[in-house]
Amino acid sequence: MPRPSIIPRHDDSNGWWATLPPPPPAKHLTGNHRVQTAIVGAGICGIAVAHRLGQLCPGDGIALIEAERAGFGASGRNAGFMLNVHSHGPPKRTDILRRNMQLWESGLSDLRRMACEFQIDCDWHEFGRIYGSAGPDGEKHIDEIAETLDQLGLAHDWMTGDAMETRIGTRFYRRGLYTTGSALVNPAALMRGLARHLPTNVSLFEEAPVVEFKTEGDAFIVETETGRVLADRLVMAAGVFLRQFGIAAGRYISMATYASLTDPLSDGELALLGTNEPFGLLASSEYGATIRLTNDKRLFFRNLFEFSPNAPTPAPRVTQISKLHRNGMLNRWPDLKKTRFAHCWGGTIAFTWNDGAIFGEYAPGLYAVLTNDVSPMTRAAAAGRLLADLMEGEESDLLSLQLGIPGASRLPPRPFLDIGIAIRRRLLQVAARKEF
Ligand SMILES: Cc1cc2nc3c(=O)[nH]c(=O)nc-3n(C[C@H](O)[C@H](O)[C@H](O)COP(=O)(O)OP(=O)(O)OC[C@H]3O[C@@H](n4cnc5c(N)ncnc54)[C@H](O)[C@@H]3O)c2cc1C
Repeated sequence: MPRPSIIPRHDDSNGWWATLPPPPPAKHLTGNHRVQTAIVGAGICGIAVAHRLGQLCPGDGIALIEAERAGFGASGRNAGFMLNVHSHGPPKRTDILRRNMQLWESGLSDLRRMACEFQIDCDWHEFGRIYGSAGPDGEKHIDEIAETLDQLGLAHDWMTGDAMETRIGTRFYRRGLYTTGSALVNPAALMRGLARHLPTNVSLFEEAPVVEFKTEGDAFIVETETGRVLADRLVMAAGVFLRQFGIAAGRYISMATYASLTDPLSDGELALLGTNEPFGLLASSEYGATIRLTNDKRLFFRNLFEFSPNAPTPAPRVTQISKLHRNGMLNRWPDLKKTRFAHCWGGTIAFTWNDGAIFGEYAPGLYAVLTNDVSPMTRAAAAGRLLADLMEGEESDLLSLQLGIPGASRLPPRPFLDIGIAIRRRLLQVAARKEF
């Protein structure tokens, strides 16, 4: 079995994580452990599997093994939009959206229920989302999004440039489109809370990078530098690092994107911003900026996508991108000259060629789940739960739907892949230059 050559080790910040109190010490993996199921990766996929499997098999021992801290990876460093549906581009893929929406809605309702049941202090806010368009690319896409929402039967309200200024304090956008159904959170707080409330038969081992896994008879052996776990079944939920274990290699790409977060704005800064009401804005254009004003009055920016086959993102690149975020902030709110981003970080998202799934049993007893493309957090919450159902023979219409999604198709080989991505990225970026 392949040994991972890349182990997640973020050397940048994670602003959401930094706003939280220090976590309790990690439980490290030492010595030998025998369990029924081992899960590698405590992002949203691995945690969703662990919650459901722990519930379905209360007598089983389950080990959840994480290289860093649960929620320090992509799942705890995203923009915090827990989406019921999201779409860029023309409404020709409504059939796929309608299918995926059932998964996203189901994942969202899992997350909502757990945040409430475990009283996770993650700033859960049923805000919905505003789409904004600033230039020609945004204008084209915002009409398409409205059309898609119409076709899906989802209500939305148009906002004029004036209404946008009143709501979010800037004339940067020509139009906005407001729709409900999705929530905003502090993702690191959500992930930490989900990890803290795992079923009692799940042992979470953190700061425990898996350096190898192999089979011995019918069992899997999962090795870290300091310990090993013997398991009857193994679930790989390592996010974009999945290919390091020889699974789904050549079937997804990892794209880096970047985020910045201020400290809480002062009353003076809020006056210059022009609003003190929290909001979450997605660009209607694929390449535009995601912006939030959080419940505790921090300004959040996310933009740029770049091919990142060797995730995670290096800290020097993060510093460069933070300047782009600052320009984006000043383009919208020129009076915020003295406002600085206190945290800047990067993270990676998996994309497939055909919106295909990486889900299921890849070899006897060896399972894998990866979330990808749009609405990945809620898609993952559903897919993780459904993978546990599949493992335990729990049938449902939703599981049939998940199993009916075509597998992620093979991508062109490198360097053709790199060239194709570079060209597409450049075209999208040029088209969306007014949306930065
Ligand atoms: C800046 C940014 C903004 C985003 N915004 C949104 C958003 O608003 N809404 C949304 O839905 N999605 C968003 N996303 C995407 C979303 O966060 C990810 O797609 C999702 O979190 C991936 O979940 P995961 O469980 O597959 O991976 P991860 O969260 O990366 O979890 C995988 C885990 O596996 C661990 N692992 C890997 N290798 C090993 C190993 N060898 N040993 C042990 N553990 C290992 C990693 O450390 C990691 O914790 C955003 C992403 C970024 C970066």
